[in-house]
Amino acid sequence: RISTNNLDSFWMPFTANRQFKQEPRLLVSAKDMYYTTSDGRKVLDGTAGLWCVNAGHGRPKIVEAIARQAGELDYAPAFQMGHPKAFELASRLVSLLPSPMDHVFFTNSGSEAVETALKIALAYHRVKGNGSKFRLIGRERGYHGVNFGGISVGGIVTNRKMFGTLLTGVDHIRHTHDLARNAFTRGEPEYGEELADDLERVVLLHDPSTVAAVIVEPVAGSTGVLIPPKGYLQKLRAICDKHDILLIFDEVITGFGRLGTPFATDYFGVMPDMITTAKGISNGTVPMGAVFVQSKIHDAFMTGPEHLIEFFHGYTYSAHPLACAAALATLDTYAEEGLLTAGAMDKDEPGDGKGLGTYWQTALHTLRGMPHVIDVRNIGLVGAIELAPMPGEPTKRAFTAFLKAYEKGVLIRTTGDIIALSPPLMLQEHHIDEIVATLAMVLKDLP
Ligand code: PMP
Repeated sequence: RISTNNLDSFWMPFTANRQFKQEPRLLVSAKDMYYTTSDGRKVLDGTAGLWCVNAGHGRPKIVEAIARQAGELDYAPAFQMGHPKAFELASRLVSLLPSPMDHVFFTNSGSEAVETALKIALAYHRVKGNGSKFRLIGRERGYHGVNFGGISVGGIVTNRKMFGTLLTGVDHIRHTHDLARNAFTRGEPEYGEELADDLERVVLLHDPSTVAAVIVEPVAGSTGVLIPPKGYLQKLRAICDKHDILLIFDEVITGFGRLGTPFATDYFGVMPDMITTAKGISNGTVPMGAVFVQSKIHDAFMTGPEHLIEFFHGYTYSAHPLACAAALATLDTYAEEGLLTAGAMDKDEPGDGKGLGTYWQTALHTLRGMPHVIDVRNIGLVGAIELAPMPGEPTKRAFTAFLKAYEKGVLIRTTGDIIALSPPLMLQEHHIDEIVATLAMVLKDLP
């Protein structure tokens, strides 16, 4: 007997919604913008899976590339060996970013990319003869995956409270959200400076000569699409430069076109020392992550062979041939269809299929004023609708919205009382209309 009920099945996906004792919703196939459910319904994917299927589902080039690669070279070790597609992919990836962001380390997930970046940061200072720099600073409300380093620097207290001290020497800066709420959509003036000063406060508190790196999501995704005010990330960069601290952008969500630019670093005009990515790199097909590293870091490791030997790091599946093939075909698809800039604000004629960011913004903001809606935020092709929590039952209202939207044929995601949207970047205006019309019906009808 195969049970598909979350509560008594043999599969143990911890994140299943035990809280609400729900039967799982089974997806059996997917094409372009739509999933098909086990009961034969079409559901519009308003979340690109888990923020990852940026080019849309079942794209032929990507499917064919994976199948071809599986027949040609199924596996090659990345220790003492390699294969041509790993080199090709690394060079294609770095061409998306300005120099000196010139090197790529391959992982299998966002969590692994984060662990890798944190280890590189600590090792970098040692290699430079600066072994006293051991502290890592994250940000409240930051999400950096579920491994030990990621939950340590992550700013979600409930994710780390069962695991004792975790990484030592970690601290967190305050999040900008409450002051910065909706700053982007209101075109708010530049009050990033005073918020960023919190970083300097924390750095000085610990003594700058002990601080190795700061990691932030440029736009916090999983905690509800929290967009920084203008100037904030620039100021973080300046403080890091002043104290010889590496700045890491976690672009696992914001990378690969999500903000209407290839990366958030393009959107905000701030270059970090490392960028972590995953998800959209292989369009959610074969698992892959990557850390982009500036040349100065790469070169520091290369100046003495002993450094490379001391820095032992790598995964059995780093640069897996299937993942590399999937990622190359994904990059082709992005390029051919202009997807990395599809979410930009409209520069041309409305309805030309480009610059969907404007259409997205206008459509989402029609939901302002609907029952329980206390905020609507957007950037690129990301959206958030924040609901007032139900007294005594936080998260219930948003979860009900999720269930009702799914019934009505749109997949949304919720985090706390925030509905998060991140559709595949191949969507068209009528898909946006469908998402917003469904949400309008759902919101009218919430407890
Ligand atoms: N960092 C960020 C910003 C993320 O959003 C996520 C996943 N949502 C991760 C890291 C972890 O990625 P993964 O689930 O692939 O390990």
